Amino acid sequence: MQALARLALAPDKMLPMHTRPLLEFITRQGAAPGALPHVSFAELPTPVDTHPDAAQELGLGALLVKRDDLTGKAYGGNKVRKLEFLLGDAQARGAKSVLTFGAAGSNHCLATATYARTLGLRCVAMLVPQHNAHSVRSNLLAGFARGSQLDLRGNRLAVALGTAAHFREEYAATGTWPSVFPAGGSSPVGCLGYVNAALELADQVAAGACPEPDVLYVASGTMGTCVGLLLGLALSPLRTRVCAVAVTSAPYTSDKKTPKLFEATNRVLHDLYPKIPHLPFPAERFSLRTEFLGQEYALYTPEGMAAVADARAHLHLKLEGTYTGKTYAALLADARSGKLAGQNVLFWDTYSSADLSPEIAQLDYHALPEPLHRFFEDPVQPLDTQ
Ligand SMILES: *Cc1c(COP(=O)(O)O)cnc(C)c1O
Repeated sequence: MQALARLALAPDKMLPMHTRPLLEFITRQGAAPGALPHVSFAELPTPVDTHPDAAQELGLGALLVKRDDLTGKAYGGNKVRKLEFLLGDAQARGAKSVLTFGAAGSNHCLATATYARTLGLRCVAMLVPQHNAHSVRSNLLAGFARGSQLDLRGNRLAVALGTAAHFREEYAATGTWPSVFPAGGSSPVGCLGYVNAALELADQVAAGACPEPDVLYVASGTMGTCVGLLLGLALSPLRTRVCAVAVTSAPYTSDKKTPKLFEATNRVLHDLYPKIPHLPFPAERFSLRTEFLGQEYALYTPEGMAAVADARAHLHLKLEGTYTGKTYAALLADARSGKLAGQNVLFWDTYSSADLSPEIAQLDYHALPEPLHRFFEDPVQPLDTQ
């Protein structure tokens, strides 16, 4: 556990499982194993790739990619790490179903459906409309194939009413309440997945798998990923800065939300394990960039799509226009402006690279609830040329 050396741990023996450094740490603090509910289904640690040719081309010391596209074979991406803690919590409370929220093509809702089902929990996804894309269609079909109840509502009030109705139905049928995960899974409990991820990166640096990044670039949709990373980094010996690239606007991503979510996540850990200190919000190592969002969430930008093409050509990565393309566009713009000259820069790939097509090829969208049909009948947005 060199990664946590800064907390001056007693050098006792290593635990057998090293793939969840956060759990290993709290167990060493004297917590009973299992005191922090958690289920292991993510494939961790994810690799860190290095791209020397692209780094040289961009004038960087190193260009690293943290491959969280590979967190799961059935479905990867960043939500899988959060769900280890969220679903662990749901199970510990005896829930029989989970209810969560997202846009129609939500990666979070698909990830939740996928892993809830492996634990025998039913999943209800409360959805709101979004700009159309091919990925909206495939995520809807895959969510349906994986047993998720898909409930599209026109606005937030309708979502609230629908949620209340699902609560009543669930209680009448099972005598239990559904476990509720917020959009993107970004509750303090969900953020723990990315506290763990930062400690995992610190272990990889300590083991020589990659140099210490000076800065990492990561998309911010509901902030759980960037804030969890920031907290985990602050608990580790790494000095890496976090550049969060907004792909949503307030209230989902905002400067005001950042320290609040940081403190709430810190509190969860401190309350359970007082040896984890209350850390001051490390403002000097966090920046939130809003100029790559474009007009709004899930509306692709020319810069974002150019970055998707660049990543495909030079890094052999499959990015997309809602999150990772806009984020890589920020990294490219900063590199080309010269402000990253000589630095070790890490791109955190948060988009699942699992291939859904074999599973959904034979599915007819008419099997889905009628309000969703329009995503298959209306055209996709013009920049979605995949
Ligand atoms: C949800 C998501 C994000 C944003 O993560 P947050 O924790 O919500 O900020 C980034 N990339 C992809 C591909 C996502 O699905």
